[in-house]
Amino acid sequence: MHPVETAARRLSAYDQYLDPQRRSEIRERADALAGERIAHVNTTADGGGVAEILHALVPLSADVGVDVDWYVMDAPDGFYEVTKTIHNGLQGDHTPITGEMRETYRRVTRENATALEERYDAIVLHDPQSLGMAPVLADRFPDATLLWRCHIDPTNAAQPYLEFVESFLDPIDRTIVSHPAYAEALDDADAAIVHPAIDPLTEKNRPLEEVPADLEGGSPDEYPFDDDRPLVVQVSRFDPWKDPLGVVEAYRRVREAGSDVQLVLAGGMPDDDPEGIEIHREVAAETADDDDVYLLTDLPDVGINVLQRCADVAVQKSLREGFALTVSETLWKETPVVGTNVGGIPLQIEDGENGYLVDPDDIGATADRLARLLADDGLRARLGKRGRETVRDRFLLPRLLEEYLTLLEEGIS
Ligand code: UDP
Repeated sequence: MHPVETAARRLSAYDQYLDPQRRSEIRERADALAGERIAHVNTTADGGGVAEILHALVPLSADVGVDVDWYVMDAPDGFYEVTKTIHNGLQGDHTPITGEMRETYRRVTRENATALEERYDAIVLHDPQSLGMAPVLADRFPDATLLWRCHIDPTNAAQPYLEFVESFLDPIDRTIVSHPAYAEALDDADAAIVHPAIDPLTEKNRPLEEVPADLEGGSPDEYPFDDDRPLVVQVSRFDPWKDPLGVVEAYRRVREAGSDVQLVLAGGMPDDDPEGIEIHREVAAETADDDDVYLLTDLPDVGINVLQRCADVAVQKSLREGFALTVSETLWKETPVVGTNVGGIPLQIEDGENGYLVDPDDIGATADRLARLLADDGLRARLGKRGRETVRDRFLLPRLLEEYLTLLEEGIS
């Protein structure tokens, strides 16, 4: 494992997003944790929702006086092939789990747990990738509180994967999930329900006027689409569960109905997601003849900001989705989102209020809602405004900080 450095954050910078009660709760919880050492462990420092959250949560926890470190596991590519298969199995894929996969997973998680040199009072293991470290950590540090933060939706899990993951849960003191249904699927009535959150002050989320003017990627002019024409955007890893081909199909139907809409699919290639290149290739081949479809990879954060603001409508066409930070990021920018009615998306989108919810297999409905929004400036503006309020009320970082500190305090005491 190796430690990850994060850029400093100050809680005082979040004043406008903090009511006095939350501020004093955060201070109280942080004081109660004084002298305790906390570690977070995941598999990538860059790309995907977990890294996004830790880049915000870790330095903000430090700013309020909590002694917190973040580690990324060291693992060969073969491990990520296995953990992506486990991830897919938990989301409902039925590829058989082999003895060799189990062995690779056990070996690499054991090696990482053995390599941890420092002592911590609480260790938060993120997602199935690092969960396998729990038994060795419990042996080596019997006094440490172990938490497992499951960011994915296991409600349709293939049984062998669910059983495999559950076989590591014994040493875990508390599991944290994003939705009550996920706790039920894990048969864990004691699991804490915590919704993820976005950081309103990052280059990804703050008003473009507030990002440095010379920052590369910070202006719509730097992108290949035409900012004067309608634009639909999906920001997501190139992953079958994000259904990029379904997005293309919905876009085509909107075009067939007479719109000159353009489509941007933006996706990074995180180190721990080996499927990305293959799916990107498939989508690129499918759209090669269409000059109004743009596949953009590895954009800087400010580029995601530009896209989510330039989009007239965003789409989140996931077939499974633990939460989808991208939905909150986009609603925050007053851009309405057409999202599927799966996992964490309906926690954020209220149908007809700040966007639309559609069935994941209903391309027709997806196209219909996109077309409806594209055709009506007033509707987009109304839904966009409410979207920002949704996020302001429920999905901003200070709330997440408070909930984590509370769980850590409960876990340690
Ligand atoms: N993201 C990004 N660049 C991309 C695609 C995604 O920075 O090209 C970010 C996105 O803005 C969000 C995170 O990666 O912050 C994805 O989190 P989400 O919860 O939506 O999905 P996950 O990848 O964790 O399944």
